[in-house]
This record gives sequence, C-alpha cells and structure tokens, in this order.
Amino acid sequence: MIRVIGLTGGIGSGKSTAADLLAGMGADVVDADEISRGLTAPGGAALPALREAFGEKLVPQDGALDRPGMRALAFSDPAARARLEAVLHPLIRDETRRRLAAATGAYALLVVPLLFESGSWAGRVERVVVVDLDEALQVRRTVGRSRLAESEVRAIMATQWPRWRRLQAADEVLWNGGGLEELRSQCERLHARLAAGRRG
Ligand code: ADP
Repeated sequence: MIRVIGLTGGIGSGKSTAADLLAGMGADVVDADEISRGLTAPGGAALPALREAFGEKLVPQDGALDRPGMRALAFSDPAARARLEAVLHPLIRDETRRRLAAATGAYALLVVPLLFESGSWAGRVERVVVVDLDEALQVRRTVGRSRLAESEVRAIMATQWPRWRRLQAADEVLWNGGGLEELRSQCERLHARLAAGRRG
C-alpha cells in the first residue's frame, strides 16, 4: 500500500498551487475537491441521490448541481448540510480509495480542504502537510481568484480551523506568504524527502 500524505490549508491558502508543483515533480495527487466536483458535474454519480434529497430546483434533470445555490443552502441550514455530506462523503471516500489504490509513485498526496475539520480523513494519512500564510494575504488571494466578496471569504474562514490550530496539528508546513518561487523551492525539498521516505 502506497504511503499517503495529506495536504490541507484554509481557503485560498495555495493547496492547488502546491499540489500542482508537487505533481510536476512526480507526486501522485488525489484531490478530494476535484472528485467532489466530478461527482456533481453533469452526469456525475452523486446527482440522482442529490436530486432525491434536494429536488430538481437545485439538481435539474440532465443538468449539474447548482453549486452556488447548494453552498448557500448548506451554509444557512445545518440539516441540509448534513444531508449533502451524507450523500457526498461516502462517494468521495470510495473514489479516493480507488485512486489511491491505483497510484504507483513513492507516495500519494491526498489534498483535502477540510482534512482536520471533517475528522474522518486523519486516520487515512501518514503525515499532514499544511499550506500556511497570514490571513490578510489569504483573504486577498481568495478574493482575487473568486467571485466572493471579502465578507464572504471571512465567513467561510470562520467555519474552518484557525491558523494557529492548523499549524499546531501540522507535521510539515509549506509557507506560502512569499512568491511562487519560494513555494516551489520548499516543495522541492519536501518532495525529495517524501520520495526518499525520510521525515526530518
Ligand atoms: P487553494 O487551492 O488552497 O484554495 P489556490 O492554490 O487556488 O488555493 O491559490 C489561491 C489563489 O492564490 C490562486 O489564484 C493562486 O494562483 C494564488 N497563489 C497561490 N500561491 C501563490 C503565490 N505564492 N504567489 C502568488 N499567488 C499565489
């Protein structure tokens, strides 16, 4: 069984950017968010169960999940959020397991935005890499790449673990408060260690 290294961090911290860099160096990347998007895209395996749970307004026949509509509902209604997770999480876990089983490199990188928060992932990874940066820059970058307003980004951040707690739980930290080259050089060192099976 391949070694599985978790990669997490707050919204807009640079998880995808770091995962892309590590993939370019040879890491097998499995991205839980990408799997989730695939499950809820047109023809996605989660659509029938989601349509059953939420109706055709959020999941039109022959369409995709209305992601912004679903996000708004899940944000304001914990019961709806729980129903959404009850459908999606087992499917995400199955597909993740399938992709990890097919990975052939020295290690697999499992990218999970809410790795710590959702609890069920912690036992599946050997070590956790946290992408870290200060919150003001995190907000700026997230607003820069999305259509979310600063207040919306801060509301999402408030549902995620605070920076200090994530750092405390991290086995490895990639500091992403600098430029891309600084992130790349840290990824190179991390990849070399992980590929060689070293920890320190
Ligand atoms: P996440 O996957 O954690 O949500 P992303 O990797 O998508 O975060 O990064 C969020 C935004 O910040 C993207 O627009 C990305 O291009 C940008 N970004 C990430 N790292 C850096 C960096 N070191 N310098 C400048 N921009 C960055």
